Amino acid sequence: SRSGYSTQNSTFYSKRTPIPLPPNTSLNITTFISSRPHKTSTAFIDASNGRHLSYSDLWSSVDSLSFSLSSIYGVRKGHVILILSPNSLSFPIICLSVMSLGALITTTNPLNTSREIAKQVADSNPYLAFTTPELAHKLAGCKTSVVLIGDNSRNEKLSGLNVITTLDEMMMMNKGGEKVVMMKERVCQNDDAALLYSSGTTGASKGVISSHRNMIAMVQTIIGRFKLDDDYQRSGDGGGANGHTFICTVPMFHIYGLVAFATGLLAAGATVVVLPKFEMNDLLLAIAKYKVSYFPLVPPILVAMVNHADQIKKHYDLSSLRTVLSGGAPLGKELIEGFVEKFPNVVIMQGYGLTESTAIGASTDCLEESRRYGTAGLLSPSIEAKIVDPESGKALGVNQTGYFNNHEATVSTLTSDGWLKTGDVCYIDEDGFLFVVDRLKELIKYKGYQVPPAELEALLLTHPEVADVAVIPFPDKEVGQFPMAYVVKKAGSNLSENEVMDFVAKQVAPYKKIRRVAFIDSVPKNASGKILRKDLINMATSSSKL
Ligand code: AMP
Repeated sequence: SRSGYSTQNSTFYSKRTPIPLPPNTSLNITTFISSRPHKTSTAFIDASNGRHLSYSDLWSSVDSLSFSLSSIYGVRKGHVILILSPNSLSFPIICLSVMSLGALITTTNPLNTSREIAKQVADSNPYLAFTTPELAHKLAGCKTSVVLIGDNSRNEKLSGLNVITTLDEMMMMNKGGEKVVMMKERVCQNDDAALLYSSGTTGASKGVISSHRNMIAMVQTIIGRFKLDDDYQRSGDGGGANGHTFICTVPMFHIYGLVAFATGLLAAGATVVVLPKFEMNDLLLAIAKYKVSYFPLVPPILVAMVNHADQIKKHYDLSSLRTVLSGGAPLGKELIEGFVEKFPNVVIMQGYGLTESTAIGASTDCLEESRRYGTAGLLSPSIEAKIVDPESGKALGVNQTGYFNNHEATVSTLTSDGWLKTGDVCYIDEDGFLFVVDRLKELIKYKGYQVPPAELEALLLTHPEVADVAVIPFPDKEVGQFPMAYVVKKAGSNLSENEVMDFVAKQVAPYKKIRRVAFIDSVPKNASGKILRKDLINMATSSSKL
């Protein structure tokens, strides 16, 4: 092969310089990050009110909260703490405090319904939940003790909830720093840090445990990545972390946002402008106001930027923007070309990863790499990969397309010899670049959000007129994919497409809605009863082309 990149013992090893884990195993993610030197004074800026949070205030807030949680509210190693909140400056403070005590954070999408959240609560059994007054009602009936983020100035109804205090009050209770230090020392790399929910390769959403070691490894990747960036920053090509301003609209409840904004970029010394949610006008105003240079995003935001490029360039000053980094879902070549044409001064990078791999498994890191349109980049430092044939399980070589595995393992989809099955169809070229060409696992991604088909199928089967059903991803330029249902009606039923869609819409978060329905005589299945989803996807996409 051209550059000699090939497998050794069926394994692709990363071409990037390995980053060994810190030898001190008694480090945890919070002590690891807080011990790093910070070159900028401002850690966060809240775009909704202009509030700045310095690194020193961030760490004193984390200490205060850790103290209250452990000494007053009895949070201990192994407890699970739920965060139900939009992005805010409080989000990373809660995460870093909880994890420093050896408790696990679990997060959920604020768009989820009470029913969906109750399921996660039943599964993860949180000791405490942090939520905003506006979202608190979604926890009614859950029995979990609630801490309110912000005061209830709008007098939201909090009936049916066990509200014990507010985050502000908790942070005022700090008078005993020494105890916190003692607690922190007992939490080490081996301990669990986060329990994020993902559907993995099949079935409904389940908790994926990331250890402190997983998180530290990822944070080191981010630190290393932005050191590299600094080099090409000097040559004027892109943006690095130190002294650079990032904007955060990616949700912190997702591994992408959690790893980038609540941990990694803090360790890299960045300043992060936080938006509570994605809203194009607010986002563009904030980029201009705070001279944002680096914008991590998901593909649907790029689609919107390309589609409205002329108005955007006319009304907003984006001259500070140097780099966008797309991740969480596939980025088409056409979209990259459209973006490069409309925003020639902005470098477009890509990252690939999963909740199960604690985020980044591959990325493009510099201008030259970014020009290989369509690649998800080189394997991250110390990542090992195997491409295996989905049918035979046989390991494949350079440029052969199969099922991508990587070794940064979490628990739910491991092979017996410790590889994490990603469920993605990929190949690695002769220069070591990873290309993600398809998704073999059931997962549907709507605007980067996970929609597990099994969950919608289970729900539809509760409809009295539905005999059988299969839910599949339907490709869409703007949102990536949306859920489509193939429904088998019971004999004599007059069920309509709209009735099917309404039935689901009433019970799920908006991003999980079924947006297309077709009726079918029977759902195609293999001998063991597994739905032949690829057949249905082919049927759906070929009939829509007619
Ligand atoms: P999540 O656990 O929500 O991050 O979902 C992980 C899945 O998102 C991966 O297994 C891929 O299917 C998809 N994904 C993430 N990043 C990319 C990318 N850069 N290109 C293609 N698919 C991606």
